[in-house]
Amino acid sequence: TFRIFLRGPEDVRILSKPPPWESWNIGRILLLGAVLGLGSLAWIGFLRHQVSRRTTELGISNTRLLAEVEERKRAQSELSRTLATEKELNQLKSQFISMVSHEFRTPLGVILASADLLSNYLDTLTPEERAEQIADIKQSTCHMADLMEDVLVLGRVESGKMGYHPHAFDLQEFCERLIDEMLSATNRRCPLPLTTEDIATPSRGDETLLRHILHNLLANGVKYSDAGRPVRLMVQRAGNNAVFTVSDQGIGIPAEDKKYIFEAFYRGKNASDRPGSGLGLVVVKRCIEIHGGTIQLQSTENVGTTVIVQLPLFRPAGETDMINRSDTAPAPQLP
Ligand code: ADP
Repeated sequence: TFRIFLRGPEDVRILSKPPPWESWNIGRILLLGAVLGLGSLAWIGFLRHQVSRRTTELGISNTRLLAEVEERKRAQSELSRTLATEKELNQLKSQFISMVSHEFRTPLGVILASADLLSNYLDTLTPEERAEQIADIKQSTCHMADLMEDVLVLGRVESGKMGYHPHAFDLQEFCERLIDEMLSATNRRCPLPLTTEDIATPSRGDETLLRHILHNLLANGVKYSDAGRPVRLMVQRAGNNAVFTVSDQGIGIPAEDKKYIFEAFYRGKNASDRPGSGLGLVVVKRCIEIHGGTIQLQSTENVGTTVIVQLPLFRPAGETDMINRSDTAPAPQLP
């Protein structure tokens, strides 16, 4: 320890200033550094915690947003589907109205005219003329009844009321009866020769569905053929299937119409001069689907049309009622 006594400031001579750190207290510096370091570490930890919390929150809201987007997409596609169905239904409704007003007006006019003629001039008409008027009334009424039948059958099919109710029946007898009915319903406009091959074995199927199928195909054959032209029905057995071939030599279907003729209310370009609803083939197709069968159509304009329908009418017992309907496409709904 030294003690220096100075007499006055003049005794002090500063040689050079010491560097500033010499006056620092190392301990304090270290303490400060440690405090700062620990503070920074704590701050970084806090920030990291905040970031991870925000990341988790963002992740959750992102998932929620994605789910919402998905939900909206689903709702949107459902809405578009509903709109498309509604559009289709509206279109079908207007087609239905136009078909009914167009196809019913002519026969109604005929009925009214014939009824007027009969009531006003009954006494003056010859028996042949009376019979002719009565035949006109009958034909027009049958035509309207056929149209209504198509509409009602399709309505029943679409509402699921037309089920598959199989039972054993004699196919040969069924076909002969049907041909007789068709001949009388069409006033024997065209001959309907029937050929059968190997169908004597007991068959099992839904007669109602089969009747709708063959009635429509034969009626079309007669309607789209000139009077006197034969419309042939051939029935053969092929394994478990009965193969029905309906062929005519009528006006045929124009190539550009072929892909649409199974659509409701669609009628071929060359068919407008003949009465029809455009529903017959839709009914045929739906009944075939319910019966687990297939349909093929070959047609050449001005040459003729052949329709081949295969139905499983000869399946061994036990297999009989297993109709696979999974591949049936939904048909258009009626208004
Ligand atoms: P519709 O006969 O009442 O018009 P369909 O659904 O039975 O209705 O037939 C749809 C269309 O297919 C008909 O309008 C016609 O153009 C065509 N078509 C069906 N069958 C025949 C056929 N045998 N010959 C010619 N055209 C046919």
